[in-house]
Amino acid sequence: MPSHSEENYLKAIFSITRETQKGAPTNSIAELLNTKASSVTDMVKRLADKKWVNHRKYQGVTLTAEGRNIAINTIRKHRLWEFFLVEHLQFKWDEVHDIAEQLEHIRSVELTNRLDAFLGHPKYDPHGDPIPDESGQFNERESLPLCDLPAGAEGIIIGVNDSSTEFLRYLETQGLMLGTPVKVKTLYPYDRSMEIDADNRTGLMLSLQVCKNLCIKKINQEK
Ligand SMILES: [Zn+2]
Repeated sequence: MPSHSEENYLKAIFSITRETQKGAPTNSIAELLNTKASSVTDMVKRLADKKWVNHRKYQGVTLTAEGRNIAINTIRKHRLWEFFLVEHLQFKWDEVHDIAEQLEHIRSVELTNRLDAFLGHPKYDPHGDPIPDESGQFNERESLPLCDLPAGAEGIIIGVNDSSTEFLRYLETQGLMLGTPVKVKTLYPYDRSMEIDADNRTGLMLSLQVCKNLCIKKINQEK
């Protein structure tokens, strides 16, 4: 049985390796988990002893099949609970991540499967992230960070790369929610900020940081 902390490490390694398609460097893991590189080194050794990760010098840390299963199962629980909290307990999308960080460590497989069935087997969590099913399958939707869109491009917000309360509250004040249509008006090469139209608001200025963290499904404009 993995401990809570081991599950958090496996989850972090999963997300880094998935994003970069490479082994996770120790310092990236430390940064993501907000801890010291020396603690990461110790933990990685422990995870390798349990055969949940492989660690080769200069190649970073990768998950074994078993480590990957643990990570995906933890993510599944996290996202199902987020969905439950928003849909049934009226939490807002910026309030659920920290609570789900606790709930994701509940062991009972029966509880998780019943929760999944109760919710109607949802495919995406309140932040637009895919929820793995019981066998660990999930569909990643194709999306681009807003900062990669050229001027004139149109799309719809389908996810966020940052589920922090601060970011989600900011988006809410700007009227930028999942499903909101956006159109890039002007790009400012100086700091890569952007002016966009969103829904029925025009001339919204967004920083590069914000644009990096908004996942957009591009609308095909070819007629
Ligand atoms: Zn979350």
